[in-house]
Amino acid sequence: MPHLPPRRGLLAVAALAGTLLALPAAAADAVLNLYSARHYQTDEALYSDFTKRTGIRINRIEAGDEALLERLRNEGRNTPADVLLLVDAARLWRAQIDGMFQPVRSQTLESRIPAHLRGKDDGQGAEWFAFSTRARVIVYNKASVSPDQVRNYADLASPTLKGKVCTRSGTHPYMLSLIGAMSEHLGEAKAESWARGVVANFARSPRGGDTDQIKAVATGECGVALTNTYYLVRMMRSEAAADKDAVAKIGMVWPDQQTWGTHVNVSGGGVMRNAPNRAAAVKFLEYLASDSAQAYLADGNNEWPAVPSAPMNNPVLSSLGQFKADTLPIGSVGRAQVTAAKIIDRAGWR
Ligand code: FE
Repeated sequence: MPHLPPRRGLLAVAALAGTLLALPAAAADAVLNLYSARHYQTDEALYSDFTKRTGIRINRIEAGDEALLERLRNEGRNTPADVLLLVDAARLWRAQIDGMFQPVRSQTLESRIPAHLRGKDDGQGAEWFAFSTRARVIVYNKASVSPDQVRNYADLASPTLKGKVCTRSGTHPYMLSLIGAMSEHLGEAKAESWARGVVANFARSPRGGDTDQIKAVATGECGVALTNTYYLVRMMRSEAAADKDAVAKIGMVWPDQQTWGTHVNVSGGGVMRNAPNRAAAVKFLEYLASDSAQAYLADGNNEWPAVPSAPMNNPVLSSLGQFKADTLPIGSVGRAQVTAAKIIDRAGWR
């Protein structure tokens, strides 16, 4: 794991004295401390491209989302982190609620990232921004389920799918966000009865990640499951015979095309509240919204750019086709996890 240089003694003194310290811009801009839950090989090119363009060196701390958030809580207000990148609105919102981010006012970010893909904004600028998007889709076993049985998320609760539905644990952020979005659209009571219906249809108790659900649908252990699109596309791009076999046995549906659209989530990030290198941090977020960074981000992990005009070059992802995406503000998706957590408790979606 890359490690950070020791903090300047001056900063510690300033923190003790409780005063604000303004470092000269040049010194403050030379380095960026990035905490990232993204862990894709292709991100390497992204970071070196930023350094090439700006001369700003990146110190990186990479870990899983939960481990990063834990580390940041322990480091408290003395964390050297300038930028935090996380996956899923549920986690970004949690970081926001924990007071980790500061608002950023940037014409570049405001013109490039659509308003519904920006986190909390009380008029001072958004506290976090989405930089790539993914959809949560339904996959089904072509031999045992017809696509007409699963046109909507609501169908997962239909008695015709008894014993056929697989999901990962309801406590996982991907599920919390989807269930939260359902409750935003349906209201809590209806979302809960839907959740109970899904649980009643389980083929097995929730376990594994999204890729495990896809594989279990392919073997026929499950008739239908939910997955983020990038796991499916990763499998579609795989050269492994087992993956090719699995892909041949499954079909995919964009849920809720006649209603509010397929649930879309994000990876994104923001500038830390006490960022020692604030100017560099804002520059980095603006860089992430550029066409070239959007391409790295989106193609590397088979996601869509958050910037609508950004070009993409990922034929397999594009082969999934166009779809109607849910445009619920991503901040309300994040917040809805509070209701979702109650729903999964009561419905036993564990
Ligand atoms: Fe994931």
